Amino acid sequence: MAPSNPLRLPMGNRLRRLSSMTATERDIKEGGPVVIVPERMMAQRSQSHHGSFAASLETARNELVAIDLEEEAILSPISSSPETPGSPITPVDVPTTDAFAFAFDIDGVLVRGGRPIPEAVEAMKVLKGKNEYGVKVPYIFLTNGGGKTEAERCIDLSRQLDIEISPAQFICGHTPMREMVERYETVLVVGGEGEKCRQVAEGYGFRDVITPGDIIKDNEATTPFRKLTAEERANSRKRDYGKTRIEAIFVFADSRDWAGDIQIILDLAMSKGGYIGTLSKTFEEGPPIYFSHNDIVWSAAHGNVRLGMGALRKIVEMLFNDLTKGKELETIAFGKPQIGTFEFATRLLQQWRKDEHRINRPPETVYFVGDTPESDIRGTNQFNERSKNEWYSLLVRTGVFQEGTQPAYTPRITVDTVLDAVKHGMKREFSKKMKGVTDGIPANSLALKHSSLNGDPAVGTKTPILEVSESSSEVGTPPLCSRSSV
Ligand SMILES: [Mg+2]
Repeated sequence: MAPSNPLRLPMGNRLRRLSSMTATERDIKEGGPVVIVPERMMAQRSQSHHGSFAASLETARNELVAIDLEEEAILSPISSSPETPGSPITPVDVPTTDAFAFAFDIDGVLVRGGRPIPEAVEAMKVLKGKNEYGVKVPYIFLTNGGGKTEAERCIDLSRQLDIEISPAQFICGHTPMREMVERYETVLVVGGEGEKCRQVAEGYGFRDVITPGDIIKDNEATTPFRKLTAEERANSRKRDYGKTRIEAIFVFADSRDWAGDIQIILDLAMSKGGYIGTLSKTFEEGPPIYFSHNDIVWSAAHGNVRLGMGALRKIVEMLFNDLTKGKELETIAFGKPQIGTFEFATRLLQQWRKDEHRINRPPETVYFVGDTPESDIRGTNQFNERSKNEWYSLLVRTGVFQEGTQPAYTPRITVDTVLDAVKHGMKREFSKKMKGVTDGIPANSLALKHSSLNGDPAVGTKTPILEVSESSSEVGTPPLCSRSSV
């Protein structure tokens, strides 16, 4: 079966809403865009859709858009939906801004050690409309993490933060690896829990996926101190790996067995054409090696940062150089800070705003909130240099970055938490919109608050909506990865 191209985002289908408590990966894959919704919100939503004029209007609009999304350019965005005069702002009838959006890193920003950072839950409520400006703000997630399918990460995050999340809002470190399925027949997939990454790779469309466990099962002498558990032995697939050509190595997620995985990666890197057990004379015949990101450290439950995939990459390259007496190993990394990852994020955000919010133009500003200067801040700043709309970097103090140190890449602003980041971005937007407003208009005008953010030129000075660069609408042309060598 031909795999779907990940860079072609779902279009024209109505979003299905599934409960975070009962949704399964199978439900999510059944077809069309999906939103994972906390159970209590499923109940609230169904109640709110009875008796609310604005909600009825939204439902009707959704029906219309489901018939032909391509005609949406002539429809008013939700943001301009009329409100019942004098009615209080509720999550159902809060308009959505089309002027700006947020993108979030996850580990160290929203979640740490599997637990939500407390301010993150409140920050999500603010974006959903619980704010003094009375608007909702679209957002996406861009993590270098992985080891699970996008659908599973989405269910996890929905439960942790108690919010609706769709896989269509989500980019994992390994998401761009989907593009490689046509290029390689037999691949080694490294990292993650148990069989998880094999399943993710097969889900992407890779046809023949081998794991380090398979190779150890075939020849236990491969890793002298690593013995397979009974479960690993049962799951691992026996075959004669000396006769199997491995065409590429993909490190999908953090290794759970550095010694064994490094041994097998180096065995292949030094092999004759990807045949395990052989040794090349030139050390130039090994398969290409891809890493889903290059973060040296990351923010986990421990008080200090922990070693990440970028550290494994460095060690593999360094050992190859040492063992081959000076040969360089060129490996490839995806994820932030690569420009291609941010271009992919731009397309994802555009599609998400279109599908979920009926907004058919790019935001003027995207606020990117991260905790790692080397990937989050570096990537955002570099992308801002070339993107026609503004990418604004915000560094938080809840993760990798430690107060008192100088970040390797300077953010536009450093704040304590993701909640402060969201508040800063919203305040900055309203300051921008306030600029140029005559003194005769009250600063606290609700009309200004709503209409100016949603592009009504009648109030305030409208900043021209900037177009996203031409290249970002093309699929696969920009480099999604970086090469490195020792
Ligand atoms: Mg992080």
